[in-house]
Amino acid sequence: MAGKKLDVVIVGGSLTGLLHGVVLKRLGHNVRILERSTSLNDQGAGILAREHLQNFFSKHDLCNLPFYVQADPRIQFLNKEAEIIKVWKAQLRMTSWDNVYYRLRANFDGFESDYVKERPLEDKSRNGNVSYEYGCTVTDLKYSDGLVTLTFERSGGGGGTLHADLVIAADGAGSSIRRMLYPNVERKYVGYAAWRGTTVESEMSDQAKTRLTTCCNYFNHKDGHMLLYTIPGKNGSLQPGERLLNFVWYCNYAEDSPEYVDLLTDTDGHKHRITIPMGKMRPEVWSAQKDYAKSLLPAPFSEVVVKTRQPFVQCITDVSAPKAVHFEGKLLLTGDALCSFRPHVGASTNQAALNALQLERVMKGEITLVEWENVCLQYAELTSLTGVTLGRWNQYGLWKTLSSAFWLAKAYLVMYITKLWR
Ligand SMILES: Cc1cc2nc3c(=O)[nH]c(=O)nc-3n(C[C@H](O)[C@H](O)[C@H](O)COP(=O)(O)OP(=O)(O)OC[C@H]3O[C@@H](n4cnc5c(N)ncnc54)[C@H](O)[C@@H]3O)c2cc1C
Repeated sequence: MAGKKLDVVIVGGSLTGLLHGVVLKRLGHNVRILERSTSLNDQGAGILAREHLQNFFSKHDLCNLPFYVQADPRIQFLNKEAEIIKVWKAQLRMTSWDNVYYRLRANFDGFESDYVKERPLEDKSRNGNVSYEYGCTVTDLKYSDGLVTLTFERSGGGGGTLHADLVIAADGAGSSIRRMLYPNVERKYVGYAAWRGTTVESEMSDQAKTRLTTCCNYFNHKDGHMLLYTIPGKNGSLQPGERLLNFVWYCNYAEDSPEYVDLLTDTDGHKHRITIPMGKMRPEVWSAQKDYAKSLLPAPFSEVVVKTRQPFVQCITDVSAPKAVHFEGKLLLTGDALCSFRPHVGASTNQAALNALQLERVMKGEITLVEWENVCLQYAELTSLTGVTLGRWNQYGLWKTLSSAFWLAKAYLVMYITKLWR
Protein backbone atom coordinates (compact mmCIF):
# COMPACT_ATOMS: atom_id res chain seq x y z
CA MET A 1 0.00 0.00 0.00
CA ALA A 2 2.98 2.29 0.58
CA GLY A 3 3.48 5.06 -1.96
CA LYS A 4 0.24 4.82 -3.95
CA LYS A 5 -2.51 7.41 -3.60
CA LEU A 6 -5.65 5.50 -2.63
CA ASP A 7 -9.39 6.07 -2.74
CA VAL A 8 -10.45 5.03 0.75
CA VAL A 9 -13.98 4.56 2.06
CA ILE A 10 -14.51 4.46 5.82
CA VAL A 11 -17.74 2.85 7.02
CA GLY A 12 -18.79 4.54 10.28
CA GLY A 13 -18.05 8.13 11.21
CA SER A 14 -17.62 7.86 14.96
CA LEU A 15 -14.26 7.95 16.74
CA THR A 16 -12.62 4.96 15.05
CA GLY A 17 -13.63 6.14 11.58
CA LEU A 18 -12.36 9.66 12.22
CA LEU A 19 -9.04 8.56 13.74
CA HIS A 20 -8.31 6.60 10.57
CA GLY A 21 -9.68 9.37 8.35
CA VAL A 22 -7.28 11.97 9.79
CA VAL A 23 -4.23 9.72 9.35
CA LEU A 24 -5.10 8.69 5.79
CA LYS A 25 -5.96 12.13 4.46
CA ARG A 26 -2.73 13.59 5.90
CA LEU A 27 -0.86 10.90 3.96
CA GLY A 28 -2.49 12.23 0.78
CA HIS A 29 -5.19 9.59 0.30
CA ASN A 30 -8.73 10.55 -0.70
CA VAL A 31 -11.10 9.63 2.13
CA ARG A 32 -14.85 9.36 2.10
CA ILE A 33 -16.60 8.63 5.41
CA LEU A 34 -20.10 7.12 5.24
CA GLU A 35 -22.01 7.44 8.51
CA ARG A 36 -25.39 5.77 9.04
CA SER A 37 -26.79 8.33 11.54
CA THR A 38 -28.18 11.61 10.28
CA SER A 39 -26.26 13.46 13.00
CA LEU A 40 -23.83 12.43 15.69
CA ASN A 41 -23.52 14.56 18.79
CA ASP A 42 -23.78 14.73 22.54
CA GLN A 43 -23.10 11.11 23.39
CA GLY A 44 -22.51 12.47 26.92
CA ALA A 45 -19.99 9.84 27.84
CA GLY A 46 -16.62 9.93 29.52
CA ILE A 47 -13.56 8.58 27.75
CA LEU A 48 -10.27 7.74 29.37
CA ALA A 49 -7.50 9.19 27.20
CA ARG A 50 -4.91 6.42 27.35
CA GLU A 51 -1.43 6.22 25.83
CA HIS A 52 -2.25 5.61 22.13
CA LEU A 53 -4.96 8.27 22.06
CA GLN A 54 -2.58 10.74 23.71
CA ASN A 55 0.11 9.86 21.14
CA PHE A 56 -2.39 10.28 18.36
CA PHE A 57 -3.29 13.78 19.51
CA SER A 58 0.34 14.79 20.08
CA LYS A 59 1.08 13.76 16.51
CA HIS A 60 -2.03 14.67 14.52
CA ASP A 61 -4.10 17.24 16.39
CA LEU A 62 -3.62 20.72 14.96
CA CYS A 63 -6.27 22.36 17.16
CA ASN A 64 -3.78 22.86 19.97
CA LEU A 65 -6.37 23.12 22.75
CA PRO A 66 -6.28 21.15 26.00
CA PHE A 67 -8.86 18.39 25.77
CA TYR A 68 -8.82 16.46 29.02
CA VAL A 69 -9.23 16.89 32.75
CA GLN A 70 -5.96 16.06 34.46
CA ALA A 71 -7.48 14.02 37.28
CA ASP A 72 -6.10 14.02 40.83
CA PRO A 73 -3.52 11.24 40.57
CA ARG A 74 -5.34 8.42 42.31
CA ILE A 75 -8.23 5.98 42.24
CA GLN A 76 -10.08 5.94 45.56
CA PHE A 77 -12.51 3.33 46.85
CA LEU A 78 -15.33 4.45 49.14
CA ASN A 79 -17.59 2.53 51.52
CA LYS A 80 -21.31 3.13 52.06
CA GLU A 81 -20.49 5.86 54.61
CA ALA A 82 -18.39 7.62 51.94
CA GLU A 83 -15.17 6.93 53.83
CA ILE A 84 -12.08 6.27 51.75
CA ILE A 85 -11.09 2.65 52.34
CA LYS A 86 -8.39 2.16 49.70
CA VAL A 87 -6.30 4.35 47.39
CA TRP A 88 -4.30 3.43 44.29
CA LYS A 89 -1.91 5.82 42.62
CA ALA A 90 -2.94 6.47 38.99
CA GLN A 91 -2.38 9.34 36.57
CA LEU A 92 -5.60 9.45 34.55
CA ARG A 93 -6.63 11.89 31.81
CA MET A 94 -10.37 12.06 31.42
CA THR A 95 -12.13 13.47 28.40
CA SER A 96 -15.50 13.03 26.72
CA TRP A 97 -16.85 11.50 23.54
CA ASP A 98 -17.99 14.91 22.23
CA ASN A 99 -14.67 16.53 22.89
CA VAL A 100 -12.77 13.87 20.97
CA TYR A 101 -15.34 13.73 18.15
CA TYR A 102 -15.37 17.48 17.39
CA ARG A 103 -11.60 17.73 17.59
CA LEU A 104 -11.25 14.88 15.12
CA ARG A 105 -13.87 16.45 12.83
CA ALA A 106 -11.90 19.72 12.89
CA ASN A 107 -8.76 17.83 11.89
CA PHE A 108 -10.54 15.68 9.31
CA ASP A 109 -12.74 18.10 7.38
CA GLY A 110 -12.31 21.44 9.17
CA PHE A 111 -15.76 21.14 10.74
CA GLU A 112 -16.43 24.13 13.03
CA SER A 113 -18.30 23.59 16.28
CA ASP A 114 -18.69 25.12 19.73
CA TYR A 115 -15.91 22.74 20.77
CA VAL A 116 -13.45 23.85 18.10
CA LYS A 117 -14.37 27.27 16.80
CA GLU A 118 -11.56 27.75 14.30
CA ARG A 119 -10.40 25.45 11.57
CA PRO A 120 -6.91 24.21 12.35
CA LEU A 121 -4.19 25.66 10.12
CA GLU A 122 -2.63 22.99 7.95
CA ASP A 123 -0.68 22.52 4.76
CA LYS A 124 -3.53 21.35 2.54
CA SER A 125 -1.36 20.76 -0.52
CA ARG A 126 -0.29 17.34 0.78
CA ASN A 127 -3.73 16.25 1.99
CA GLY A 128 -6.12 14.07 0.05
CA ASN A 129 -9.73 15.09 -0.60
CA VAL A 130 -12.21 14.32 2.15
CA SER A 131 -15.95 14.08 2.64
CA TYR A 132 -18.07 13.19 5.66
CA GLU A 133 -21.54 12.00 4.67
CA TYR A 134 -24.31 11.50 7.21
CA GLY A 135 -27.31 9.27 6.57
CA CYS A 136 -25.41 6.72 4.48
CA THR A 137 -25.78 3.06 5.47
CA VAL A 138 -23.50 0.55 3.82
CA THR A 139 -25.57 -2.55 3.04
CA ASP A 140 -23.23 -4.75 1.01
CA LEU A 141 -19.57 -5.29 0.08
CA LYS A 142 -18.07 -7.28 -2.82
CA TYR A 143 -14.46 -7.85 -3.80
CA SER A 144 -13.00 -8.56 -7.23
CA ASP A 145 -9.95 -7.53 -9.28
CA GLY A 146 -8.35 -5.66 -6.36
CA LEU A 147 -11.33 -3.36 -5.90
CA VAL A 148 -13.99 -3.36 -3.21
CA THR A 149 -17.49 -2.42 -4.33
CA LEU A 150 -19.80 -1.01 -1.65
CA THR A 151 -23.53 -0.64 -1.84
CA PHE A 152 -25.11 2.03 0.36
CA GLU A 153 -28.50 3.60 1.02
CA ARG A 154 -29.13 7.27 1.81
CA SER A 155 -31.59 8.04 4.59
CA GLY A 156 -33.69 10.43 2.48
CA GLY A 157 -33.82 7.89 -0.38
CA GLY A 158 -31.29 7.05 -3.05
CA GLY A 159 -27.82 5.64 -2.56
CA GLY A 160 -25.84 3.53 -4.97
CA THR A 161 -22.57 1.70 -5.37
CA LEU A 162 -19.00 2.93 -5.22
CA HIS A 163 -15.52 1.46 -5.61
CA ALA A 164 -12.61 1.76 -3.22
CA ASP A 165 -8.94 0.72 -3.13
CA LEU A 166 -9.24 0.34 0.62
CA VAL A 167 -12.22 0.04 2.98
CA ILE A 168 -11.93 0.66 6.71
CA ALA A 169 -14.79 -1.00 8.58
CA ALA A 170 -15.30 1.24 11.63
CA ASP A 171 -18.97 0.44 12.10
CA GLY A 172 -18.79 -0.39 15.80
CA ALA A 173 -19.59 -3.32 18.07
CA GLY A 174 -22.74 -4.15 16.08
CA SER A 175 -20.72 -4.10 12.81
CA SER A 176 -22.74 -5.33 9.85
CA ILE A 177 -19.49 -5.76 7.89
CA ARG A 178 -18.17 -8.15 10.55
CA ARG A 179 -21.49 -10.00 10.33
CA MET A 180 -21.15 -10.31 6.53
CA LEU A 181 -17.64 -11.76 6.96
CA TYR A 182 -18.39 -13.93 9.99
CA PRO A 183 -22.10 -14.73 10.19
CA ASN A 184 -21.45 -17.12 13.10
CA VAL A 185 -19.67 -14.59 15.32
CA GLU A 186 -22.27 -13.39 17.80
CA ARG A 187 -22.37 -10.31 19.99
CA LYS A 188 -23.26 -11.71 23.42
CA TYR A 189 -24.88 -9.97 26.38
CA VAL A 190 -22.71 -10.73 29.43
CA GLY A 191 -25.27 -10.41 32.24
CA TYR A 192 -25.01 -6.80 33.37
CA ALA A 193 -25.79 -3.30 32.16
CA ALA A 194 -24.21 0.13 32.71
CA TRP A 195 -26.37 3.03 33.82
CA ARG A 196 -24.67 6.20 32.71
CA GLY A 197 -25.11 9.95 33.08
CA THR A 198 -23.55 13.24 34.08
CA THR A 199 -24.20 16.14 36.49
CA VAL A 200 -22.69 19.61 36.22
CA GLU A 201 -20.02 20.11 38.90
CA SER A 202 -21.56 23.41 40.13
CA GLU A 203 -24.81 21.60 40.98
CA MET A 204 -23.07 19.29 43.42
CA SER A 205 -22.94 19.98 47.17
CA ASP A 206 -19.60 21.18 48.61
CA GLN A 207 -19.46 18.05 50.76
CA ALA A 208 -19.67 15.77 47.74
CA LYS A 209 -17.13 17.79 45.73
CA THR A 210 -14.64 17.73 48.61
CA ARG A 211 -14.94 13.96 48.97
CA LEU A 212 -14.85 13.10 45.27
CA THR A 213 -12.25 15.66 44.03
CA THR A 214 -11.35 15.09 40.34
CA CYS A 215 -9.96 11.61 40.89
CA CYS A 216 -11.59 8.35 39.85
CA ASN A 217 -13.92 7.08 42.60
CA TYR A 218 -15.17 3.50 43.07
CA PHE A 219 -17.91 1.91 45.09
CA ASN A 220 -18.41 -1.87 45.11
CA HIS A 221 -21.66 -3.44 46.28
CA LYS A 222 -23.35 -6.84 46.05
CA ASP A 223 -24.22 -7.50 42.39
CA GLY A 224 -22.53 -4.41 41.04
CA HIS A 225 -20.20 -1.48 41.24
CA MET A 226 -20.07 2.16 40.28
CA LEU A 227 -17.38 4.58 39.24
CA LEU A 228 -17.42 8.32 39.09
CA TYR A 229 -14.98 10.79 37.55
CA THR A 230 -14.77 14.33 36.20
CA ILE A 231 -14.87 15.05 32.46
CA PRO A 232 -14.93 18.27 30.38
CA GLY A 233 -18.22 20.20 30.42
CA LYS A 234 -20.36 21.88 27.78
CA ASN A 235 -18.40 22.74 24.65
CA GLY A 236 -15.34 21.07 26.16
CA SER A 237 -15.01 23.49 29.10
CA LEU A 238 -12.33 22.56 31.63
CA GLN A 239 -13.38 25.30 34.08
CA PRO A 240 -14.03 24.05 37.61
CA GLY A 241 -17.80 24.23 38.14
CA GLU A 242 -18.57 23.82 34.43
CA ARG A 243 -17.05 20.36 34.21
CA LEU A 244 -19.24 17.26 34.51
CA LEU A 245 -19.27 14.43 37.00
CA ASN A 246 -19.69 11.29 34.96
CA PHE A 247 -20.98 8.08 36.47
CA VAL A 248 -21.03 4.50 35.20
CA TRP A 249 -23.02 2.13 37.41
CA TYR A 250 -22.94 -1.57 36.57
CA CYS A 251 -25.90 -3.68 37.73
CA ASN A 252 -26.59 -7.38 37.08
CA TYR A 253 -29.72 -8.40 35.12
CA ALA A 254 -30.40 -11.96 34.03
CA GLU A 255 -31.13 -12.02 30.31
CA ASP A 256 -34.86 -11.76 29.57
CA SER A 257 -35.75 -11.39 33.25
CA PRO A 258 -38.74 -9.03 33.80
CA GLU A 259 -36.31 -6.35 35.15
CA TYR A 260 -34.16 -6.61 32.02
CA VAL A 261 -37.13 -6.35 29.66
CA ASP A 262 -38.44 -3.41 31.69
CA LEU A 263 -35.06 -1.67 31.58
CA LEU A 264 -34.81 -1.89 27.80
CA THR A 265 -38.37 -0.84 27.01
CA ASP A 266 -38.46 2.84 26.08
CA THR A 267 -41.02 5.64 26.42
CA ASP A 268 -42.69 4.50 23.15
CA GLY A 269 -42.98 0.90 24.32
CA HIS A 270 -40.21 -0.16 21.95
CA LYS A 271 -37.89 -2.90 23.31
CA HIS A 272 -34.21 -2.13 22.57
CA ARG A 273 -31.55 -4.81 22.31
CA ILE A 274 -28.49 -3.05 23.77
CA THR A 275 -29.05 0.63 24.59
CA ILE A 276 -31.70 2.95 25.98
CA PRO A 277 -30.59 6.28 24.52
CA MET A 278 -30.76 9.64 26.31
CA GLY A 279 -34.31 10.96 26.55
CA LYS A 280 -35.89 7.54 25.94
CA MET A 281 -35.86 6.06 29.43
CA ARG A 282 -39.31 5.64 30.98
CA PRO A 283 -39.71 7.99 34.00
CA GLU A 284 -40.89 5.15 36.30
CA VAL A 285 -37.78 3.07 35.50
CA TRP A 286 -35.49 6.02 36.25
CA SER A 287 -37.40 6.91 39.38
CA ALA A 288 -37.00 3.35 40.74
CA GLN A 289 -33.27 3.42 39.99
CA LYS A 290 -32.89 6.75 41.83
CA ASP A 291 -34.63 5.24 44.88
CA TYR A 292 -32.27 2.26 44.66
CA ALA A 293 -29.32 4.69 44.49
CA LYS A 294 -30.47 6.53 47.62
CA SER A 295 -30.79 3.28 49.58
CA LEU A 296 -27.54 1.70 48.41
CA LEU A 297 -24.84 4.17 47.40
CA PRO A 298 -22.56 6.49 49.43
CA ALA A 299 -24.09 9.99 49.59
CA PRO A 300 -21.83 11.66 46.94
CA PHE A 301 -22.53 8.84 44.47
CA SER A 302 -26.30 8.89 44.96
CA GLU A 303 -26.24 12.70 44.69
CA VAL A 304 -24.74 12.49 41.20
CA VAL A 305 -27.27 9.85 40.16
CA VAL A 306 -30.27 11.73 41.54
CA LYS A 307 -29.19 15.03 39.90
CA THR A 308 -28.64 13.43 36.49
CA ARG A 309 -31.13 14.72 33.92
CA GLN A 310 -30.34 12.60 30.89
CA PRO A 311 -29.60 9.05 32.01
CA PHE A 312 -28.99 6.27 29.52
CA VAL A 313 -28.26 2.56 29.68
CA GLN A 314 -25.85 0.37 27.78
CA CYS A 315 -25.94 -3.40 28.15
CA ILE A 316 -22.47 -4.86 28.26
CA THR A 317 -21.61 -7.27 25.47
CA ASP A 318 -18.59 -9.23 24.20
CA VAL A 319 -17.71 -9.70 20.55
CA SER A 320 -14.52 -10.03 18.53
CA ALA A 321 -13.56 -11.01 14.99
CA PRO A 322 -10.87 -13.65 14.43
CA LYS A 323 -9.02 -11.55 11.82
CA ALA A 324 -8.60 -7.87 10.95
CA VAL A 325 -7.34 -8.11 7.34
CA HIS A 326 -9.69 -9.28 4.58
CA PHE A 327 -10.03 -9.15 0.78
CA GLU A 328 -6.23 -9.38 0.27
CA GLY A 329 -5.62 -6.35 2.46
CA LYS A 330 -8.34 -4.18 0.90
CA LEU A 331 -10.78 -4.42 3.82
CA LEU A 332 -9.69 -3.82 7.42
CA LEU A 333 -11.83 -4.32 10.52
CA THR A 334 -10.91 -1.70 13.14
CA GLY A 335 -11.99 -0.38 16.55
CA ASP A 336 -15.10 -1.90 18.10
CA ALA A 337 -15.92 -3.68 14.82
CA LEU A 338 -12.74 -5.72 15.32
CA CYS A 339 -13.08 -6.24 19.06
CA SER A 340 -15.45 -4.59 21.48
CA PHE A 341 -14.11 -4.37 25.03
CA ARG A 342 -15.99 -4.23 28.28
CA PRO A 343 -15.78 -0.62 29.44
CA HIS A 344 -13.88 -1.45 32.67
CA VAL A 345 -10.61 -1.13 30.75
CA GLY A 346 -11.52 2.28 29.23
CA ALA A 347 -9.61 1.23 26.14
CA SER A 348 -11.90 1.22 23.08
CA THR A 349 -10.78 4.58 21.75
CA ASN A 350 -7.23 3.66 22.67
CA GLN A 351 -7.54 0.55 20.49
CA ALA A 352 -8.89 2.67 17.62
CA ALA A 353 -5.97 5.10 17.97
CA LEU A 354 -3.50 2.19 18.01
CA ASN A 355 -5.09 0.71 14.85
CA ALA A 356 -4.85 4.09 13.09
CA LEU A 357 -1.27 4.86 14.17
CA GLN A 358 -0.09 1.41 13.12
CA LEU A 359 -1.86 1.77 9.76
CA GLU A 360 0.09 4.99 9.25
CA ARG A 361 3.28 2.92 9.62
CA VAL A 362 2.02 0.43 7.02
CA MET A 363 1.28 3.28 4.61
CA LYS A 364 4.77 4.67 5.15
CA GLY A 365 6.29 1.24 4.44
CA GLU A 366 7.64 0.84 8.00
CA ILE A 367 5.72 -2.37 8.75
CA THR A 368 3.72 -4.87 6.70
CA LEU A 369 0.00 -5.40 6.88
CA VAL A 370 0.65 -8.80 8.48
CA GLU A 371 2.58 -7.04 11.27
CA TRP A 372 -0.26 -4.49 11.57
CA GLU A 373 -2.74 -7.30 12.06
CA ASN A 374 -0.55 -9.06 14.64
CA VAL A 375 -0.20 -5.91 16.73
CA CYS A 376 -3.93 -5.14 16.53
CA LEU A 377 -5.07 -8.70 17.32
CA GLN A 378 -2.67 -9.05 20.23
CA TYR A 379 -3.84 -5.77 21.76
CA ALA A 380 -7.45 -6.84 21.23
CA GLU A 381 -6.98 -10.24 22.87
CA LEU A 382 -5.10 -9.01 25.95
CA THR A 383 -7.36 -6.01 26.53
CA SER A 384 -10.55 -7.92 25.98
CA LEU A 385 -9.52 -10.66 28.46
CA THR A 386 -8.53 -7.97 30.97
CA GLY A 387 -11.99 -6.38 30.59
CA VAL A 388 -13.76 -9.72 31.08
CA THR A 389 -11.66 -10.47 34.19
CA LEU A 390 -12.25 -7.03 35.74
CA GLY A 391 -15.96 -7.19 34.95
CA ARG A 392 -16.49 -10.63 36.45
CA TRP A 393 -14.40 -9.77 39.51
CA ASN A 394 -16.42 -6.63 40.24
CA GLN A 395 -19.86 -8.07 39.42
CA TYR A 396 -19.66 -11.66 40.62
CA GLY A 397 -16.56 -12.10 42.80
CA LEU A 398 -13.62 -14.50 42.78
CA TRP A 399 -15.08 -17.84 41.61
CA LYS A 400 -16.54 -16.59 38.38
CA THR A 401 -13.28 -14.77 37.62
CA LEU A 402 -10.95 -17.76 37.73
CA SER A 403 -11.41 -19.00 34.14
CA SER A 404 -10.87 -15.61 32.47
CA ALA A 405 -7.91 -14.88 34.80
CA PHE A 406 -6.41 -18.19 33.65
CA TRP A 407 -6.84 -17.31 29.93
CA LEU A 408 -5.44 -13.84 30.55
CA ALA A 409 -2.34 -15.24 32.29
CA LYS A 410 -1.92 -17.73 29.43
CA ALA A 411 -2.18 -14.96 26.80
CA TYR A 412 0.50 -12.91 28.58
CA LEU A 413 2.74 -15.96 28.89
CA VAL A 414 2.42 -16.73 25.17
CA MET A 415 3.23 -13.09 24.38
CA TYR A 416 6.41 -13.10 26.51
CA ILE A 417 7.59 -16.47 25.19
CA THR A 418 7.02 -15.28 21.59
CA LYS A 419 9.02 -12.11 22.32
CA LEU A 420 11.89 -14.11 23.86
CA TRP A 421 11.85 -16.50 20.90
CA ARG A 422 12.29 -13.61 18.47
C1 LIG B 1 -20.31 2.07 29.55
C2 LIG B 1 -19.28 2.42 28.51
C3 LIG B 1 -18.15 3.16 28.88
C4 LIG B 1 -17.15 3.47 27.92
N1 LIG B 1 -16.03 4.13 28.34
C5 LIG B 1 -15.03 4.28 27.47
C6 LIG B 1 -13.77 4.83 27.90
O1 LIG B 1 -13.54 5.19 29.05
N2 LIG B 1 -12.79 4.93 26.98
C7 LIG B 1 -12.98 4.52 25.69
O2 LIG B 1 -12.05 4.62 24.90
N3 LIG B 1 -14.14 4.05 25.26
C8 LIG B 1 -15.16 3.89 26.10
N4 LIG B 1 -16.31 3.33 25.66
C9 LIG B 1 -16.40 2.89 24.24
C10 LIG B 1 -16.64 4.01 23.24
O3 LIG B 1 -17.88 4.61 23.52
C11 LIG B 1 -16.64 3.49 21.77
O4 LIG B 1 -17.04 2.16 21.80
C12 LIG B 1 -15.27 3.66 21.10
O5 LIG B 1 -15.00 5.04 20.97
C13 LIG B 1 -15.12 2.99 19.70
O6 LIG B 1 -16.07 3.41 18.85
P1 LIG B 1 -16.23 2.99 17.32
O7 LIG B 1 -16.06 4.23 16.49
O8 LIG B 1 -15.36 1.82 16.96
O9 LIG B 1 -17.70 2.45 17.30
P2 LIG B 1 -19.07 3.27 17.48
O10 LIG B 1 -18.89 4.41 18.40
O11 LIG B 1 -20.11 2.25 17.80
O12 LIG B 1 -19.32 3.87 16.03
C14 LIG B 1 -19.71 3.11 14.92
C15 LIG B 1 -20.34 4.07 13.92
O13 LIG B 1 -20.65 3.36 12.73
C16 LIG B 1 -21.93 3.75 12.27
N5 LIG B 1 -22.44 2.62 11.47
C17 LIG B 1 -22.83 1.41 11.92
N6 LIG B 1 -23.19 0.62 10.89
C18 LIG B 1 -23.05 1.35 9.76
C19 LIG B 1 -23.25 1.07 8.37
N7 LIG B 1 -23.69 -0.11 7.94
N8 LIG B 1 -23.00 2.07 7.46
C20 LIG B 1 -22.53 3.29 7.89
N9 LIG B 1 -22.30 3.59 9.20
C21 LIG B 1 -22.56 2.63 10.12
C22 LIG B 1 -22.72 4.01 13.54
O14 LIG B 1 -23.81 4.86 13.31
C23 LIG B 1 -21.66 4.66 14.43
O15 LIG B 1 -21.60 6.05 14.32
C24 LIG B 1 -17.31 3.04 26.57
C25 LIG B 1 -18.47 2.33 26.18
C26 LIG B 1 -19.42 2.00 27.14
C27 LIG B 1 -20.61 1.17 26.72
